[in-house]
Amino acid sequence: MRFGNAALDAIETKKFGGELSEEVISAIVAGYTEGEVPDYQMASLLMAIFIRGMGYEETLALTRAMADSGERYSFPECVDKHSTGGVGDKISLTALPVAAACGAPVAKLSGRGLGTTGGTVDKLESIPGLSVELTRQRFERQVDEVGLAIAEAGDLAPADKEIYALRDTTGTVDSLPLIGSSIVSKKAATGAGHLLYDVKRGSGAFMKTVEDARELARLLVRLSEDLGIKSSALITEMDNPLGSAVGNALEVRESVHFLAGGEVPEDLAHEARYVAIRLLELKGIPDPGSRVEDALSSGAAHEKFKEFVRTQGGDADALDELPVSSEVHEVPAPSDGYVARFGALGVARAALALGAGREKKGDEVDPGAGVEVLLKRGDKVEEGGPVARLYGGRNVARAETLVREALEISPEPVKAAPGILDSLKPEALDD
Ligand code: URA
Repeated sequence: MRFGNAALDAIETKKFGGELSEEVISAIVAGYTEGEVPDYQMASLLMAIFIRGMGYEETLALTRAMADSGERYSFPECVDKHSTGGVGDKISLTALPVAAACGAPVAKLSGRGLGTTGGTVDKLESIPGLSVELTRQRFERQVDEVGLAIAEAGDLAPADKEIYALRDTTGTVDSLPLIGSSIVSKKAATGAGHLLYDVKRGSGAFMKTVEDARELARLLVRLSEDLGIKSSALITEMDNPLGSAVGNALEVRESVHFLAGGEVPEDLAHEARYVAIRLLELKGIPDPGSRVEDALSSGAAHEKFKEFVRTQGGDADALDELPVSSEVHEVPAPSDGYVARFGALGVARAALALGAGREKKGDEVDPGAGVEVLLKRGDKVEEGGPVARLYGGRNVARAETLVREALEISPEPVKAAPGILDSLKPEALDD
């Protein structure tokens, strides 16, 4: 099949809402990855898909073609989790060592943060010495020997990398079939046999409503199951940051504190436990609730995290005193009342302004920068009392304004909101 003709035919078909065959989809994905299909044709096709949508079979074919566009790993015994991106989302750093300590091996490939969502790779790199660049051989050995390896996703699913970059510049990111196929293609190429999706909903997430999040969750689970991955999904709240810390070293510090048995905000403690339990369930490990509690109370999960850090070259002794910025500024409450909301998006923008993330690809990250929210929804506020701590020396005044704007104070008491909004297992797809 000539790529140019195939691409033009596909654009014509999709423009009128027609269905693309598996053969056409795989030819175009292969052609685009090899540079034979030009950007302008792919962009036009993506916009037609954005407007007309894709049927399930087309979406599955696209996912498979992108997964097959590069190397594929295989870890049928391993568990993995994927979050659609949140603010202060440190569930990988907390739930995965717990799952590994309970006998569920973890093989995870992660990305860097971009915009207001953080990336596990950036967080891990705030640990002195730790490397996320593992060869395939070393990654496989570590999964075998330690039961927990987290590396930077390299050239897996290269078609997705190319297509995602094009979507980012052509207004075609927020399309359900394109998001679903993008996420699942990378997971299928990573090859873990058991996968939990954490689909975030709220101001700090891609999906703004529970219904949209549920639709994405159903698609992710269905695509994964059809590609041979045992999966389930959660819908979780992302109107407020998760836990207290937002920023790389700050988030690692809070995660280590949790693993060591320290107190952290209830939303984080609950979700980390819940995700670990669901991962053990996916693996069919009996009595997951008490195993998770044992791994935390015995110190086994904390030890597992330290072993993982050491194996990837990091200084595990530095974990308790991770360097964070010495420039710290407290934000006072403007009035008395109760916290109705500490807007995730606003807090994330403040962390970004302080240097905790990248506004565009290639920007330098300050690992010690970020925000600690000191109050959660429902907490009592006293005028002048501290509501947040800002770490870092860049744009402090702007960050303070963003944090102040993110905080909504109610004169009436406010109830804490549930963090886990829904949970979806493959059986639910038949509903
Ligand atoms: N995350 C991905 O990996 N791909 C998308 O399209 C959106 C979020």
